[in-house]
Amino acid sequence: MAGFRRPFEVVDHAALMRTHQPPPEYFEGDWLLGPEEIEARQLAALQTRARSAYEVPFFRDRWDAAGFHPNDLKSLEDLWQVPAYQVDDIRKSIEAHPPLGDYQGADLANAAQEPLRVFMSGATTGAPRPTLYTQWDREAGAILMARALYLQGVRPGDVVVNAWAYSTHNGAFAFDEALHKWLSCVVLTTGTGNVTSSRRQVELACQYQATAILTTGDYLLHLAEVAVEMGLDPKKDFNLKALPNIGDRAKLEEVFGVPNYQSYGFHEVQWVAQECPARAGLHVFEDAYVVQIVDPDTGERVPDGEPGCLCVTETYKTGSPQFRYNIQDLSVLHPREQCECGSWLRRIGPFAGRADNMIKLRGVNVWPEAVGAIAVDDPRLEGDYFVRARREGTRDEMIVHLTTRAEAGDHAAIAAAAEARLKERLGVRIAVELGAPGSLDAWTEIHTSPKPKRFRDERAD
Ligand SMILES: [Zn+2]
Repeated sequence: MAGFRRPFEVVDHAALMRTHQPPPEYFEGDWLLGPEEIEARQLAALQTRARSAYEVPFFRDRWDAAGFHPNDLKSLEDLWQVPAYQVDDIRKSIEAHPPLGDYQGADLANAAQEPLRVFMSGATTGAPRPTLYTQWDREAGAILMARALYLQGVRPGDVVVNAWAYSTHNGAFAFDEALHKWLSCVVLTTGTGNVTSSRRQVELACQYQATAILTTGDYLLHLAEVAVEMGLDPKKDFNLKALPNIGDRAKLEEVFGVPNYQSYGFHEVQWVAQECPARAGLHVFEDAYVVQIVDPDTGERVPDGEPGCLCVTETYKTGSPQFRYNIQDLSVLHPREQCECGSWLRRIGPFAGRADNMIKLRGVNVWPEAVGAIAVDDPRLEGDYFVRARREGTRDEMIVHLTTRAEAGDHAAIAAAAEARLKERLGVRIAVELGAPGSLDAWTEIHTSPKPKRFRDERAD
Protein backbone atom coordinates (compact mmCIF):
# COMPACT_ATOMS: atom_id res chain seq x y z
CA MET A 1 0.00 0.00 0.00
CA ALA A 2 1.54 3.26 -1.15
CA GLY A 3 2.68 5.57 1.60
CA PHE A 4 1.71 3.23 4.43
CA ARG A 5 3.91 3.95 7.46
CA ARG A 6 4.05 2.15 10.77
CA PRO A 7 4.05 4.21 13.99
CA PHE A 8 7.73 3.51 14.75
CA GLU A 9 8.68 4.64 11.23
CA VAL A 10 7.24 8.15 11.47
CA VAL A 11 9.13 9.55 14.45
CA ASP A 12 12.80 10.54 14.35
CA HIS A 13 13.61 9.54 17.91
CA ALA A 14 16.98 11.29 17.99
CA ALA A 15 15.29 14.57 17.02
CA LEU A 16 12.50 13.93 19.51
CA MET A 17 14.93 13.40 22.39
CA ARG A 18 16.86 16.56 21.47
CA THR A 19 13.66 18.62 21.49
CA HIS A 20 12.10 17.03 24.58
CA GLN A 21 14.77 15.43 26.74
CA PRO A 22 13.56 12.33 28.58
CA PRO A 23 14.37 11.55 32.20
CA PRO A 24 16.74 11.07 33.89
CA GLU A 25 19.08 13.10 31.64
CA TYR A 26 16.51 15.92 31.47
CA PHE A 27 17.09 16.77 35.13
CA GLU A 28 20.82 17.25 34.50
CA GLY A 29 20.09 19.05 31.22
CA ASP A 30 17.21 21.20 30.01
CA TRP A 31 15.56 21.36 33.45
CA LEU A 32 18.43 23.68 34.42
CA LEU A 33 18.44 25.97 31.35
CA GLY A 34 18.80 29.70 31.95
CA PRO A 35 15.87 32.08 31.38
CA GLU A 36 17.10 33.47 28.01
CA GLU A 37 17.59 30.01 26.55
CA ILE A 38 14.19 28.82 27.80
CA GLU A 39 12.44 31.78 26.21
CA ALA A 40 14.41 31.68 22.95
CA ARG A 41 13.43 28.05 22.46
CA GLN A 42 9.86 28.81 23.48
CA LEU A 43 9.52 31.54 20.90
CA ALA A 44 10.90 29.37 18.10
CA ALA A 45 8.54 26.53 18.99
CA LEU A 46 5.61 28.94 19.28
CA GLN A 47 6.24 30.38 15.82
CA THR A 48 6.37 26.91 14.26
CA ARG A 49 3.23 25.83 16.10
CA ALA A 50 1.34 28.99 15.09
CA ARG A 51 2.02 28.26 11.43
CA SER A 52 0.68 24.71 11.71
CA ALA A 53 -2.33 25.78 13.80
CA TYR A 54 -3.19 28.33 11.10
CA GLU A 55 -3.79 25.44 8.69
CA VAL A 56 -6.65 24.23 10.93
CA PRO A 57 -10.05 25.88 10.20
CA PHE A 58 -11.01 26.41 13.85
CA PHE A 59 -7.91 28.53 14.41
CA ARG A 60 -7.65 30.17 10.99
CA ASP A 61 -11.22 31.50 11.18
CA ARG A 62 -10.71 32.97 14.65
CA TRP A 63 -7.31 34.45 13.89
CA ASP A 64 -8.47 35.97 10.60
CA ALA A 65 -11.46 37.54 12.35
CA ALA A 66 -9.15 39.02 15.00
CA GLY A 67 -6.66 40.28 12.40
CA PHE A 68 -3.86 38.02 13.66
CA HIS A 69 -1.43 36.20 11.38
CA PRO A 70 1.33 33.79 12.51
CA ASN A 71 3.93 36.18 11.02
CA ASP A 72 2.90 38.72 13.68
CA LEU A 73 4.42 36.49 16.35
CA LYS A 74 7.81 38.17 16.82
CA SER A 75 8.13 37.91 20.59
CA LEU A 76 6.51 35.92 23.40
CA GLU A 77 4.65 39.12 24.24
CA ASP A 78 2.88 38.94 20.87
CA LEU A 79 1.07 35.80 22.02
CA TRP A 80 -1.36 38.15 23.78
CA GLN A 81 -2.64 39.23 20.33
CA VAL A 82 -3.95 35.74 19.60
CA PRO A 83 -7.64 35.27 20.43
CA ALA A 84 -8.29 32.75 23.20
CA TYR A 85 -11.17 30.26 23.21
CA GLN A 86 -12.93 28.11 25.78
CA VAL A 87 -14.45 24.67 26.04
CA ASP A 88 -17.80 25.98 24.73
CA ASP A 89 -16.10 26.93 21.46
CA ILE A 90 -14.80 23.38 21.16
CA ARG A 91 -18.26 22.00 21.89
CA LYS A 92 -19.79 24.20 19.19
CA SER A 93 -17.14 23.04 16.75
CA ILE A 94 -18.06 19.40 17.48
CA GLU A 95 -21.77 20.13 17.07
CA ALA A 96 -21.19 21.83 13.73
CA HIS A 97 -18.74 19.20 12.44
CA PRO A 98 -19.45 15.89 14.18
CA PRO A 99 -17.82 13.78 15.42
CA LEU A 100 -14.38 15.44 15.46
CA GLY A 101 -15.09 19.17 15.17
CA ASP A 102 -12.97 21.39 12.92
CA TYR A 103 -10.17 21.87 15.48
CA GLN A 104 -8.23 18.68 14.72
CA GLY A 105 -4.95 19.12 12.90
CA ALA A 106 -4.97 15.50 11.76
CA ASP A 107 -7.19 13.47 9.48
CA LEU A 108 -8.61 9.98 10.10
CA ALA A 109 -8.67 9.39 6.32
CA ASN A 110 -4.89 9.78 6.29
CA ALA A 111 -4.18 7.44 9.22
CA ALA A 112 -2.31 4.87 7.10
CA GLN A 113 0.32 7.51 6.38
CA GLU A 114 0.11 9.44 9.67
CA PRO A 115 -0.82 6.87 12.34
CA LEU A 116 -3.26 8.23 14.91
CA ARG A 117 -4.80 7.53 18.23
CA VAL A 118 -8.05 9.09 19.38
CA PHE A 119 -8.96 9.72 23.01
CA MET A 120 -11.84 11.58 24.60
CA SER A 121 -12.20 13.88 27.56
CA GLY A 122 -13.61 12.44 30.77
CA ALA A 123 -16.77 14.50 30.34
CA THR A 124 -16.63 16.06 33.80
CA THR A 125 -18.02 19.18 32.16
CA GLY A 126 -20.34 18.16 29.31
CA ALA A 127 -20.12 15.88 26.28
CA PRO A 128 -16.82 14.07 25.64
CA ARG A 129 -14.39 15.93 23.40
CA PRO A 130 -12.20 13.88 21.04
CA THR A 131 -8.53 14.63 20.39
CA LEU A 132 -6.52 13.00 17.61
CA TYR A 133 -2.89 12.35 18.49
CA THR A 134 -0.15 11.76 15.94
CA GLN A 135 2.64 9.39 16.84
CA TRP A 136 4.98 12.31 17.58
CA ASP A 137 2.37 13.79 19.93
CA ARG A 138 2.03 10.49 21.78
CA GLU A 139 5.79 10.11 22.17
CA ALA A 140 6.48 13.71 23.19
CA GLY A 141 3.53 13.67 25.59
CA ALA A 142 4.81 10.42 27.08
CA ILE A 143 8.24 11.95 27.67
CA LEU A 144 6.67 14.85 29.60
CA MET A 145 4.69 12.40 31.68
CA ALA A 146 7.77 10.25 32.30
CA ARG A 147 9.58 13.34 33.61
CA ALA A 148 6.72 14.07 36.00
CA LEU A 149 6.66 10.47 37.25
CA TYR A 150 10.44 10.49 37.68
CA LEU A 151 10.27 13.71 39.67
CA GLN A 152 7.71 12.04 41.92
CA GLY A 153 10.00 9.10 42.62
CA VAL A 154 9.32 6.45 39.95
CA ARG A 155 12.60 4.97 38.66
CA PRO A 156 13.56 3.03 35.52
CA GLY A 157 12.71 -0.66 35.79
CA ASP A 158 10.16 -0.24 38.60
CA VAL A 159 6.94 -2.22 38.68
CA VAL A 160 3.96 0.14 38.66
CA VAL A 161 0.26 -0.69 39.05
CA ASN A 162 -1.92 1.22 36.61
CA ALA A 163 -5.39 1.25 38.16
CA TRP A 164 -6.83 3.88 35.83
CA ALA A 165 -9.61 2.80 33.46
CA TYR A 166 -8.33 1.62 30.09
CA SER A 167 -11.16 3.22 28.15
CA THR A 168 -11.82 5.98 25.61
CA HIS A 169 -10.09 8.29 28.06
CA ASN A 170 -6.43 9.14 27.54
CA GLY A 171 -5.22 8.72 31.12
CA ALA A 172 -4.48 5.02 31.48
CA PHE A 173 -2.85 4.78 28.05
CA ALA A 174 -0.76 7.91 28.53
CA PHE A 175 0.61 6.56 31.83
CA ASP A 176 1.19 3.18 30.22
CA GLU A 177 3.15 4.66 27.33
CA ALA A 178 5.21 6.95 29.56
CA LEU A 179 6.14 4.15 31.94
CA HIS A 180 6.85 1.44 29.41
CA LYS A 181 8.46 3.42 26.62
CA TRP A 182 10.37 6.12 28.50
CA LEU A 183 11.17 4.61 31.90
CA SER A 184 11.26 0.89 31.03
CA CYS A 185 8.89 0.28 33.91
CA VAL A 186 6.89 -2.94 34.12
CA VAL A 187 3.22 -1.96 34.13
CA LEU A 188 0.65 -4.10 35.92
CA THR A 189 -2.44 -3.19 33.91
CA THR A 190 -5.06 -3.84 36.56
CA GLY A 191 -7.53 -1.16 35.47
CA THR A 192 -10.06 0.11 38.02
CA GLY A 193 -11.68 -1.72 40.93
CA ASN A 194 -14.51 -2.76 38.59
CA VAL A 195 -12.04 -4.73 36.44
CA THR A 196 -9.67 -6.02 39.12
CA SER A 197 -11.08 -6.26 42.65
CA SER A 198 -9.54 -4.06 45.32
CA ARG A 199 -8.26 -7.12 47.20
CA ARG A 200 -6.57 -8.38 44.04
CA GLN A 201 -5.06 -4.91 43.42
CA VAL A 202 -3.57 -5.01 46.92
CA GLU A 203 -2.25 -8.56 46.43
CA LEU A 204 -0.61 -7.69 43.11
CA ALA A 205 0.91 -4.45 44.42
CA CYS A 206 2.44 -6.31 47.38
CA GLN A 207 3.54 -9.45 45.51
CA TYR A 208 5.27 -7.46 42.76
CA GLN A 209 6.50 -4.75 45.17
CA ALA A 210 5.07 -1.99 42.99
CA THR A 211 6.63 1.44 43.66
CA ALA A 212 3.49 3.36 42.65
CA ILE A 213 -0.22 2.70 42.19
CA LEU A 214 -1.69 5.05 39.63
CA THR A 215 -5.27 6.02 40.50
CA THR A 216 -7.14 8.74 42.36
CA GLY A 217 -5.88 9.60 45.82
CA ASP A 218 -9.24 8.50 47.20
CA TYR A 219 -9.09 5.06 45.64
CA LEU A 220 -5.50 4.64 46.83
CA LEU A 221 -6.64 5.41 50.38
CA HIS A 222 -9.42 2.88 49.91
CA LEU A 223 -6.80 0.28 48.89
CA ALA A 224 -4.92 1.06 52.11
CA GLU A 225 -8.10 0.32 54.08
CA VAL A 226 -8.56 -2.94 52.19
CA ALA A 227 -4.93 -3.84 52.93
CA VAL A 228 -5.52 -3.26 56.65
CA GLU A 229 -8.62 -5.51 56.49
CA MET A 230 -6.38 -8.15 54.92
CA GLY A 231 -4.00 -7.87 57.88
CA LEU A 232 -1.37 -5.88 55.98
CA ASP A 233 0.44 -2.65 56.88
CA PRO A 234 0.24 -0.01 54.10
CA LYS A 235 3.63 1.43 55.11
CA LYS A 236 5.54 -1.87 55.29
CA ASP A 237 3.85 -4.36 53.01
CA PHE A 238 3.51 -2.02 50.05
CA ASN A 239 6.77 -0.79 48.53
CA LEU A 240 5.48 2.61 47.42
CA LYS A 241 8.23 5.11 46.54
CA ALA A 242 6.01 7.63 44.74
CA LEU A 243 2.49 9.00 45.13
CA PRO A 244 1.50 10.36 41.71
CA ASN A 245 -2.06 10.56 43.00
CA ILE A 246 -4.24 13.62 43.22
CA GLY A 247 -6.05 13.82 46.52
CA ASP A 248 -5.70 14.56 50.20
CA ARG A 249 -1.96 15.18 50.40
CA ALA A 250 -1.60 15.09 54.18
CA LYS A 251 -3.60 11.89 54.47
CA LEU A 252 -1.76 10.13 51.61
CA GLU A 253 1.63 11.01 53.08
CA GLU A 254 0.57 9.89 56.53
CA VAL A 255 -0.83 6.55 55.37
CA PHE A 256 2.03 5.59 53.03
CA GLY A 257 4.99 7.52 54.45
CA VAL A 258 5.98 8.85 51.00
CA PRO A 259 5.97 12.49 49.78
CA ASN A 260 3.16 13.57 47.46
CA TYR A 261 3.87 16.21 44.82
CA GLN A 262 1.20 18.10 42.96
CA SER A 263 0.76 18.14 39.22
CA TYR A 264 -1.40 19.77 36.58
CA GLY A 265 -2.62 18.71 33.19
CA PHE A 266 -5.75 18.16 31.14
CA HIS A 267 -7.08 15.95 28.41
CA GLU A 268 -6.31 18.01 25.29
CA VAL A 269 -2.67 18.77 26.08
CA GLN A 270 -1.68 16.14 28.69
CA TRP A 271 0.91 16.87 31.43
CA VAL A 272 1.62 20.59 31.79
CA ALA A 273 3.33 21.17 35.15
CA GLN A 274 4.84 19.30 38.05
CA GLU A 275 5.81 20.25 41.58
CA CYS A 276 9.45 19.64 42.53
CA PRO A 277 10.73 18.68 46.00
CA ALA A 278 11.11 22.40 46.88
CA ARG A 279 7.27 22.53 46.92
CA ALA A 280 7.17 26.15 45.86
CA GLY A 281 4.85 25.79 42.88
CA LEU A 282 4.46 23.53 39.86
CA HIS A 283 7.15 23.92 37.16
CA VAL A 284 5.70 24.25 33.66
CA PHE A 285 7.43 22.08 31.03
CA GLU A 286 8.27 25.12 28.94
CA ASP A 287 9.75 23.16 26.06
CA ALA A 288 6.13 22.13 25.45
CA TYR A 289 3.90 24.89 26.81
CA VAL A 290 3.42 28.60 27.22
CA VAL A 291 1.09 29.33 30.14
CA GLN A 292 -0.70 32.64 30.71
CA ILE A 293 -3.21 33.77 33.32
CA VAL A 294 -6.34 35.69 32.31
CA ASP A 295 -9.20 37.35 34.14
CA PRO A 296 -12.13 34.92 34.56
CA ASP A 297 -14.68 37.54 33.47
CA THR A 298 -12.91 39.62 30.81
CA GLY A 299 -10.21 37.28 29.49
CA GLU A 300 -7.72 40.15 29.89
CA ARG A 301 -4.18 39.70 31.13
CA VAL A 302 -3.72 39.33 34.89
CA PRO A 303 -0.42 40.46 36.52
CA ASP A 304 2.05 37.75 37.59
CA GLY A 305 1.24 36.29 40.99
CA GLU A 306 -2.46 37.18 40.88
CA PRO A 307 -5.16 34.52 40.53
CA GLY A 308 -7.05 33.92 37.29
CA CYS A 309 -7.76 31.32 34.62
CA LEU A 310 -5.00 29.27 33.05
CA CYS A 311 -4.70 29.95 29.32
CA VAL A 312 -2.53 27.24 27.80
CA THR A 313 -0.69 27.00 24.48
CA GLU A 314 1.04 23.76 23.64
CA THR A 315 4.07 23.90 21.36
CA TYR A 316 5.04 20.22 21.26
CA LYS A 317 2.35 18.69 19.09
CA THR A 318 2.18 18.15 15.34
CA GLY A 319 -1.50 17.14 15.19
CA SER A 320 -4.49 18.73 16.93
CA PRO A 321 -3.38 22.13 18.26
CA GLN A 322 -4.37 23.91 21.45
CA PHE A 323 -3.32 27.51 21.06
CA ARG A 324 -4.44 29.93 23.77
CA TYR A 325 -7.00 27.59 25.27
CA ASN A 326 -8.60 29.30 28.28
CA ILE A 327 -9.24 26.12 30.21
CA GLN A 328 -11.04 28.02 33.02
CA ASP A 329 -9.03 26.25 35.68
CA LEU A 330 -7.99 28.72 38.35
CA SER A 331 -4.37 29.18 39.36
CA VAL A 332 -1.60 31.78 39.55
CA LEU A 333 1.59 32.20 37.49
CA HIS A 334 4.65 33.21 39.46
CA PRO A 335 7.29 35.54 37.97
CA ARG A 336 10.29 33.74 36.47
CA GLU A 337 12.78 33.12 39.28
CA GLN A 338 15.29 30.41 40.03
CA CYS A 339 13.81 27.71 42.26
CA GLU A 340 15.67 26.08 45.14
CA CYS A 341 15.90 22.99 42.92
CA GLY A 342 17.96 24.98 40.39
CA SER A 343 15.33 25.25 37.67
CA TRP A 344 14.29 28.52 36.05
CA LEU A 345 11.13 27.01 34.59
CA ARG A 346 8.13 29.14 35.50
CA ARG A 347 5.87 27.89 38.24
CA ILE A 348 2.10 27.93 38.61
CA GLY A 349 0.08 27.52 41.79
CA PRO A 350 -1.86 24.31 42.35
CA PHE A 351 -5.25 23.87 40.68
CA ALA A 352 -7.56 26.15 42.66
CA GLY A 353 -10.98 25.34 41.20
CA ARG A 354 -13.08 25.88 38.08
CA ALA A 355 -13.96 29.41 37.02
CA ASP A 356 -17.26 28.22 35.55
CA ASN A 357 -18.18 26.72 38.94
CA MET A 358 -17.95 30.11 40.58
CA ILE A 359 -21.06 30.80 42.60
CA LYS A 360 -22.17 34.21 43.70
CA LEU A 361 -23.43 33.58 47.21
CA ARG A 362 -25.02 36.70 48.65
CA GLY A 363 -22.58 38.95 46.83
CA VAL A 364 -19.45 36.88 47.52
CA ASN A 365 -17.67 34.85 44.83
CA VAL A 366 -17.27 31.29 46.10
CA TRP A 367 -15.62 28.28 44.50
CA PRO A 368 -16.77 24.83 45.61
CA GLU A 369 -13.17 23.57 45.67
CA ALA A 370 -12.17 26.37 48.05
CA VAL A 371 -15.17 25.57 50.23
CA GLY A 372 -14.12 21.91 50.28
CA ALA A 373 -10.49 22.65 51.15
CA ILE A 374 -11.45 24.85 54.09
CA ALA A 375 -14.27 22.59 55.26
CA VAL A 376 -12.17 19.40 55.51
CA ASP A 377 -9.31 21.10 57.34
CA ASP A 378 -9.90 19.11 60.55
CA PRO A 379 -8.28 15.77 61.46
CA ARG A 380 -11.66 14.44 62.61
CA LEU A 381 -12.90 14.68 59.00
CA GLU A 382 -12.11 12.52 55.98
CA GLY A 383 -10.96 14.45 52.89
CA ASP A 384 -14.18 13.84 50.95
CA TYR A 385 -16.70 16.62 50.28
CA PHE A 386 -19.60 17.58 48.04
CA VAL A 387 -21.07 21.05 47.68
CA ARG A 388 -24.65 21.90 46.70
CA ALA A 389 -26.09 25.33 45.95
CA ARG A 390 -29.84 25.70 46.59
CA ARG A 391 -32.44 28.41 46.39
CA GLU A 392 -34.45 28.81 49.56
CA GLY A 393 -37.11 31.46 49.20
CA THR A 394 -35.26 34.48 47.88
CA ARG A 395 -31.88 33.44 49.20
CA ASP A 396 -29.10 31.34 47.70
CA GLU A 397 -27.91 28.78 50.23
CA MET A 398 -24.92 26.52 50.11
CA ILE A 399 -24.48 23.19 51.84
CA VAL A 400 -21.24 21.28 52.08
CA HIS A 401 -21.48 17.57 52.82
CA LEU A 402 -18.49 16.04 54.64
CA THR A 403 -17.62 12.61 55.97
CA THR A 404 -16.30 11.51 59.34
CA ARG A 405 -15.65 8.36 61.32
CA ALA A 406 -16.40 10.14 64.60
CA GLU A 407 -19.18 8.97 66.92
CA ALA A 408 -22.62 10.39 66.12
CA GLY A 409 -22.55 12.28 69.43
CA ASP A 410 -19.58 14.36 68.20
CA HIS A 411 -21.11 15.30 64.83
CA ALA A 412 -22.78 18.53 65.95
CA ALA A 413 -19.53 19.94 67.39
CA ILE A 414 -17.49 18.95 64.30
CA ALA A 415 -20.07 20.49 61.95
CA ALA A 416 -20.21 23.69 64.02
CA ALA A 417 -16.41 24.00 63.89
CA ALA A 418 -16.45 23.57 60.10
CA GLU A 419 -19.22 26.17 59.73
CA ALA A 420 -17.21 28.61 61.86
CA ARG A 421 -14.07 28.04 59.72
CA LEU A 422 -16.03 28.69 56.53
CA LYS A 423 -17.65 31.83 57.90
CA GLU A 424 -14.30 33.17 59.07
CA ARG A 425 -12.39 32.43 55.86
CA LEU A 426 -15.05 33.12 53.23
CA GLY A 427 -17.23 35.65 55.00
CA VAL A 428 -20.50 33.84 54.24
CA ARG A 429 -22.54 31.28 56.13
CA ILE A 430 -22.39 27.82 54.60
CA ALA A 431 -24.24 24.89 56.18
CA VAL A 432 -22.33 21.70 56.96
CA GLU A 433 -23.83 18.19 57.01
CA LEU A 434 -21.90 15.11 58.08
CA GLY A 435 -22.19 11.53 56.90
CA ALA A 436 -20.26 8.27 57.08
CA PRO A 437 -17.25 7.59 54.79
CA GLY A 438 -18.54 6.47 51.38
CA SER A 439 -21.87 8.28 51.79
CA LEU A 440 -20.96 10.82 49.08
CA ASP A 441 -19.74 8.32 46.49
CA ALA A 442 -22.92 8.45 44.40
CA TRP A 443 -22.57 12.24 44.10
CA THR A 444 -18.81 12.45 43.62
CA GLU A 445 -18.64 9.35 41.34
CA ILE A 446 -15.27 8.89 42.96
CA HIS A 447 -14.81 5.27 41.92
CA THR A 448 -15.95 5.70 38.32
CA SER A 449 -14.78 9.15 37.21
CA PRO A 450 -11.14 10.25 36.72
CA LYS A 451 -11.98 13.63 38.26
CA PRO A 452 -14.41 13.43 41.18
CA LYS A 453 -17.45 15.69 40.97
CA ARG A 454 -17.60 18.18 43.80
CA PHE A 455 -20.50 20.48 43.05
CA ARG A 456 -24.11 20.54 41.95
CA ASP A 457 -26.10 23.69 41.32
CA GLU A 458 -29.71 22.96 42.27
CA ARG A 459 -30.88 26.56 42.09
CA ALA A 460 -32.64 26.06 38.74
CA ASP A 461 -34.34 22.80 39.84
ZN1 LIG B 1 11.87 23.56 41.69
